[in-house]
Amino acid sequence: MKLEPMSIQLQQFDADEPNGVPSSDLSDVIPLQPFTVDAAYIHVPFCFHKCHYCDFYSIVDSDDRQAVFVDRVTAELSRIGPRVQGTMGAVFIGGGTPTLLEAPLLARLLAAVREHLPLDEDLEWTVEANPETVDRGIAEVLADGGVNRVSVGCQSFQPELLATLERHHDPSSVDRALKHLRDAGLDAFNLDLIHGVPGSTLEQWQDDLRRALDLGPAHLSCYGLQYEPNTPLTRKLELGRIKRLEEDLEAQMYEHTCRVLQQAGYDHYEISNWCRPGAACRHNLVYWRSGNWLAFGPSASGHLDGTRWKNVPRLGEWLDSNPWTRIVDLERADASGRVGEHLMLELRLREGMSHQRLEELLGQSDPGGRRREAIELGLEKGILESSDEGLRLSDRGILLSDSLLSELI
Ligand code: SF4
Repeated sequence: MKLEPMSIQLQQFDADEPNGVPSSDLSDVIPLQPFTVDAAYIHVPFCFHKCHYCDFYSIVDSDDRQAVFVDRVTAELSRIGPRVQGTMGAVFIGGGTPTLLEAPLLARLLAAVREHLPLDEDLEWTVEANPETVDRGIAEVLADGGVNRVSVGCQSFQPELLATLERHHDPSSVDRALKHLRDAGLDAFNLDLIHGVPGSTLEQWQDDLRRALDLGPAHLSCYGLQYEPNTPLTRKLELGRIKRLEEDLEAQMYEHTCRVLQQAGYDHYEISNWCRPGAACRHNLVYWRSGNWLAFGPSASGHLDGTRWKNVPRLGEWLDSNPWTRIVDLERADASGRVGEHLMLELRLREGMSHQRLEELLGQSDPGGRRREAIELGLEKGILESSDEGLRLSDRGILLSDSLLSELI
């Protein structure tokens, strides 16, 4: 699962707001002078079905718009790529379902990335895949195009839980997709799993983890189900047609995940992410370390030195806003806002931060001492732990981290 970079409410201008603030476009955030970035994200906004828990922007029945989408992304890559100085270490093509693109169009998109973006020699290049859409042809296009990591949306191996999520794929398609990927030479992959699905049991989650481990992934993202606003799943919850899982059971699922994956040799490097040693997702580390990344495609979010934005989340408007993409949710963080972002994001990482880094950040901004106070309270409650290496969330604190992290903003 790709990360939706956290939206942090700072100074925000949204042209959709009724108070009539002016519209912005990418030319307002992309520097005229050469600039450096760590990564690029490309959002492919097409799915063959809309899963009921999902709030990522995507549309179905898109066949007639795939080519024009690829043409438009290519034009934007060619306009912005040459301004980037140096090289970037990660590219992530997410969605939506990138592997829903017809094979020749996917090949064109990958070629455009190679042609227009300056890429590190040891680039991490990830593409998200719905297992149902990965056949031999798509796997070969990915491998031939330079992709070296595939993130496969499994979510669950239990057909009844996939049905609750209105997720349309057959659990057996995961195995088949990985075989095609491996045959094509792609063996670095992430599996996305979701726990906490209404009606699920601890035994089902244990089975999901077992089956995922049997597939030998280098990386696992295990997220608790989120009820995002305005999704069909949340409406069902509000109507009482489904019930949220008990908090205790969700906690047991999370604790089981930590235990089993540690026993299996995975590093727990972020609240919801585990990897084989050395296989952390470089792209997502750019998010958590507040690095700089470019964003292409409708609804893709980017960040450059404290400025965050989101491309307009509607395909038609994105296509029409030529030559520069219209943007919404433009946020320019002041010094205090940037410190808050760093604290909140870096403490999500299990390594936490050194005392020196903490003092450096608090020295830049700690209005009224409230951040230091929140940290001290977190230490008292055992949510945080301090050692010679630095400050980090405790094992128990991960489950209680939400309110602490939001207090640090
Ligand atoms: S396939 Fe992924 S992006 Fe598409 S609707 Fe389902 S969860 Fe959302």
